[in-house]
Parts: sequence; structure tokens; C-alpha cells
Amino acid sequence: MSNVVLESVSRNFGDFVAVSSLDLRVNEGEFVTLLGPSGCGKTTTLRMVAGLEQNTSGRISIGNEIVSDAARGIFVPSERRRLGMVFQSYAIWPHMTVFENVAYPLRVRRRPNAEIKEAVAKTLHLVEMEGFAQRPAPALSGGQQQRVAIARALVFEPKVLLLDEPLSNLDAKLRLQMGDEFRAIQKRLGMTTLYVTHDQSEAMSLSDRVVVMDRGRIQQIGAPEDIYRFPANRTVAAFFGTPNLLDAQVTACSRIDGQRVRLEVVGRGWSGPCEAANEVRLGQSVTVMVRPEDARIASIDMAADEQGLRWSGRVAHTTFRGATRSVVVETNTGQFNIDASACNKYVIGDDVSVFVPQQAAWAVPAPVANEAEGHVRRGRASAAMPAGAADARSRNTSS
Ligand code: ATP
Repeated sequence: MSNVVLESVSRNFGDFVAVSSLDLRVNEGEFVTLLGPSGCGKTTTLRMVAGLEQNTSGRISIGNEIVSDAARGIFVPSERRRLGMVFQSYAIWPHMTVFENVAYPLRVRRRPNAEIKEAVAKTLHLVEMEGFAQRPAPALSGGQQQRVAIARALVFEPKVLLLDEPLSNLDAKLRLQMGDEFRAIQKRLGMTTLYVTHDQSEAMSLSDRVVVMDRGRIQQIGAPEDIYRFPANRTVAAFFGTPNLLDAQVTACSRIDGQRVRLEVVGRGWSGPCEAANEVRLGQSVTVMVRPEDARIASIDMAADEQGLRWSGRVAHTTFRGATRSVVVETNTGQFNIDASACNKYVIGDDVSVFVPQQAAWAVPAPVANEAEGHVRRGRASAAMPAGAADARSRNTSS
């Protein structure tokens, strides 16, 4: 097994910077996911680790070996990096059986027949495809083809697995099932895994750590729950779902622990307590994020002394989503998105109150004005927190 280390890695296409000064360490046996909107540089990053793309600057190491160092002109070709790869288009050979598909990486490496037979059988068993060895590849379902692709990536016991949207062609149910199966295999074999997806829930459920990227840069690295609950900035907050993003000013600030502070904030027409990372300061402009599932409608389950933010409003819109019902409440400071239980049958025009407990309201520094759109161009300053992307994703209107 092996770790993967990227140090100040960039990739330019002409004067377009697709990946900018990326620093990342994937530890041995760890499952790390690159997550971000289309075009943010996920695939380019993965391809650089794979050796399918050369980094313009920086250094990439796999295990103890430097596989690419732009400054020193080092570049180890893909086939010598001992990587397992699974890509979106499974790329299994249609003219071969399942057995021959999985055997292919071993045949290329000129392993003896007996070893190939044993390794293929073992790997097919791992992905629960042992009964399909002689089946022609085209006579398989999408999920089965996917498993063959995974088996082919695993068969030569690579140090590192690289996967680019490997489940994206599957239907929702199979995607969940395959994701879980794959994660179980990865854990069992302890393989260092770098995974690319733009699917938030897939990243949340599979990963040890998630790397949120935007416009070629890392926005935040952390455990899935930390990224979701405690985003570092508005871009990360807005990437997941349709959060309410409320602009405010910090009027009081006290330390909770080494990592968080308790704030009193005042926005246009409302005020209340919330929490933030400890770099937030008194007087600072912030964006308060409230996840729709953390907001509650009505007051029956709300203790009178419970600390939080409150609004009065009127139901403007509801959408039944199966397990939940999305409710939009029009307040005098704007619209508020709430995910309520589907059992609650709110009707448009209902007068309601909205309550958000203090610990569910998380503030991040407000975006800086004049932030550039699009990827960085060489020689120009880059934007750390794009407001446009956040606003486009959120149906919220701030107060
Ligand atoms: P998606 O989720 O849509 O696959 P991504 O995050 O994987 O997107 P990349 O494929 O890494 O994004 O592309 C990052 C940026 O680099 C995009 O703007 C893309 O158009 C650009 N890009 C990628 N490859 C090339 C290339 N060979 N020449 C020029 N630009 C490129």
C-alpha cells in the first residue's frame, strides 16, 4: 500500500489554469474524494496522478517514489505507476469474456497462466462475479460491467486506486448498492483510493475525507460531516443542497473552544445567535448558513428558552419529495427553505413561524466584493470565494 502526495501541483492549458497550486496528501488505505462542480479540475487532478496528464508545476509522489516533478523534469509513465484505474466509461473490452477482461492487466505484465487463473478467480469472487467468468462482456448489465471494471483495476493489486465517476452510468438504486460494495472491498483490501465525483451524497457516504474543489483550487478538505456542517466558506456551504444563506454582521463574539466561537449576528430585519470557526471576528460581515433540514416550522416542539433564530412568515410553496416535503416560507426578510417531514401537510398561505436552533446556524466570512468569475488566468489574482456560484445554487434570498 502507499500514500499519494501532491505538492503545489498545477496544470495549465495555454494561459488557462485548470488546477492551481494543489496540495493534498492521501494517506495509506484512505478513501479521499475530489468533489466539485463540473469543470473545477477534478479529472485533470486525477489524470495527473495517473500519469495521463503532465503537471505544469509541482511534484507528485506515490509511496516513496516521486512520479512527477516538473522542476526536475521527472515523469514516470502511467504504466509504471502500478495504479488501478476505473473510469466513467467502463472501457471493458467488448470482444472478450469477463475472465479475459479481468486477466488483461496480468497478461500485459506477462504473468504465468496459473497465476492469472488464480488471481482472476479470486478477484471475481471479491466483486461477486465468479459465476460470470465465461460470459461475453456485452452480455452483462451496467452494474455487472461496472464490477468487471473494478475487478480489472484490482486484479494486479495496485498500490493506489483512481476512480473517476465510476458509478455515474448506473441507476440510483444500483449506484447506492455498488457504492457500498465498492467501499467494503476498498476497506477490506486497505487500498489508498482517490475518487472523483460531482455527486455530493456519494462523496459523503463513501469517503474518509472529502476535498471540495472550485475553479481549480481546493476550497476545503475534511471529514464529510465537518465539510457539510462546518463549511469554511460560502462556496462550500452552497455546494451542498439548497442552504439558506443570510448576510449579517457580527455584534458579539465569544470563544466556545479552540475551534469555534459563539456569535450574535444582526442582519437586515433579524438577529440571533449562531456559531462559526474561531477566525471570525467582532464587526465582521458574515454569511449565516442554515440547512433546510435544520429549520423547523411552528412552535409546538420548540422550548421557549431554546437559543436560536426565529422568523414569522407565510407558506409560499411546497413540494412533496417522498421522505420529506420542501416548504418555502416567505418572511419579511426574504424566502426561507425548509425540509419538513412529508407527514406535515402545509398549505400555501398558512401562517407559520420558522425556528433554527443556534447550533444549526453556522456563519462563514462573507464573500469579498469584485470576485473574479471563471478559472484563474495566469498572472491574475484568484478568487478564494466565488459569490456567483453560491448564489446560483441556492434558491435562498438573504435578509
Ligand atoms: P467534470 O465534472 O465535468 O468532469 P472536472 O472537474 O473533472 O469536470 P476537468 O475535466 O478537470 O474538470 O477540467 C477542468 C478545466 O480544464 C475545464 O474547464 C476543462 O475545460 C479544462 N480542460 C481539461 N482538459 C483540457 C485540455 N486538454 N485542453 C484545454 N482545457 C482543458
